Amino acid sequence: MLAAMKKDKSIHLSKSHFIAGLQCPKRLYLSVYPPEILGNDNAVGENLPIINGYAVGDMACKLYPGVMVEYDAGLSAALKTTADLIADERVTRIHEATFNFDNILVRVDLLERTKTGWILTEVKAATSVKEYYLNDTAVQAWVLQGCGLKLDAVRLMHVNNQFVYQGDENYEGLLHAEDITQRIESRIQGIKAQKDAFMKMLSGDEPDIAMGGQCYSPFECDFCSYCQPNDLPEYPVSILPRNNEKNRQAWHDAGYEDVRDIPDGVLENPNHQRVWRVTCSGKEEVDIDEASALKDLPWPRYYIDFETIGLAVPQWKGVRPYVQIPFQWSCHIHHEDGRMEHVEFLDVTGNDPRRACAESLVQHIGCEGVLIAYNAGFEKGVIRGLAEMHPDLSESLLEMNERFFDLLPLARKAYYHPSQMGSWSIKAVLPALVPELNYKNLDGVQDGGGAQLAWIEAASSDEMKRRNIANQLLAYCKLDTLAMVKIVDALLGRVKHG
Ligand code: SF4
Repeated sequence: MLAAMKKDKSIHLSKSHFIAGLQCPKRLYLSVYPPEILGNDNAVGENLPIINGYAVGDMACKLYPGVMVEYDAGLSAALKTTADLIADERVTRIHEATFNFDNILVRVDLLERTKTGWILTEVKAATSVKEYYLNDTAVQAWVLQGCGLKLDAVRLMHVNNQFVYQGDENYEGLLHAEDITQRIESRIQGIKAQKDAFMKMLSGDEPDIAMGGQCYSPFECDFCSYCQPNDLPEYPVSILPRNNEKNRQAWHDAGYEDVRDIPDGVLENPNHQRVWRVTCSGKEEVDIDEASALKDLPWPRYYIDFETIGLAVPQWKGVRPYVQIPFQWSCHIHHEDGRMEHVEFLDVTGNDPRRACAESLVQHIGCEGVLIAYNAGFEKGVIRGLAEMHPDLSESLLEMNERFFDLLPLARKAYYHPSQMGSWSIKAVLPALVPELNYKNLDGVQDGGGAQLAWIEAASSDEMKRRNIANQLLAYCKLDTLAMVKIVDALLGRVKHG
């Protein structure tokens, strides 16, 4: 089957194939000839960046109306429709114009007719021009020029993060186009040679390329699980935190694959030394002095966590693109007499949740005690945003921000267990300190990304489904704050017995 495909001289590379090949030739090869053992496991699921990408694409079509080239009837029909539209001088704007030149197939986000030629525009959901977008756009420009179009300019359109939505569906100014004609000129010259090299590579066997930095830049490759060696060490040296390329190379050259291979005295960074020590001993390490700081936290203790959504196309007045809007919070309140309360807020209606969210915080968070969060800078930023939006509540809200205690830096200094694999994320620390609590036991939503997708789904669901999703979100966020309570309990337990 594979051999038959390879003999087929009519391989067409899409723009995505080309970009994959620039990242790693093997990635291109595996994209064209997907290994059977992967089945559908490599299918790209929905995530917030993809949803934002679609939303920005739709917005470009609304702001710059033109004729859409549909793909429903297949490639030939799309090519024919495009050719007809190009020939029709009354047509000034085309979306998804489809071209095929020298075995490369591209669909152009926006093509605009000028008096003397065409302007090609690539639309991205990012907030700036990234270097790797230039390759993407150069491929398209090369194909269009090969098809005989005269390009007057090439532009990259991206989200303007200074835009503030004022309501009434007015999104004028949300997208900003930058002229990148000069910047891609030399890249266009190289496309032909690059394409020929790819085709030659594709006519041979799967390239033998070892995993390396290219697997994660500019994107995480879809084939990491396929390329991963089967005999991976139990504690690869890559788990050593906040590493740099120079160290990685030195350890690789010295033949250290597992953290435990590294001899005593080699590591200089104290944190690396700790991870090495704990991994070699197989036993947790607790810094009792650091953990003791938890005893002095004031009462009551508000363990708080937010879930937020950052949309590229803002939905509510006064919101900028990608600003994190809180739709949920959970708070466990631990009183000095041992009582534990739980309060929470959730809005899955799809309406602006900010006012109700701010009011619920003011209602439930008292004026005394400490607010505890894991990576508190995020929670403080969310509260600051609510305060800016609601001047009548801002004093109470900003006063909360004065009383935060960040559990993450303390956990970093006070505790490490081999199972954390170099991470102090709450999902790494919790199972080490409190094995009986596990996010994997949750039904549905199990992480922050899942919570965002669930919120989007709930907002467009019927009442029954919405209630079901709401229950999943409530359980997830509640576990996040309970996790902090249990981590603090467990660390104080170590202090008591230490
Ligand atoms: S995982 Fe790495 S080596 Fe394998 S195809 Fe992807 S980029 Fe290439």
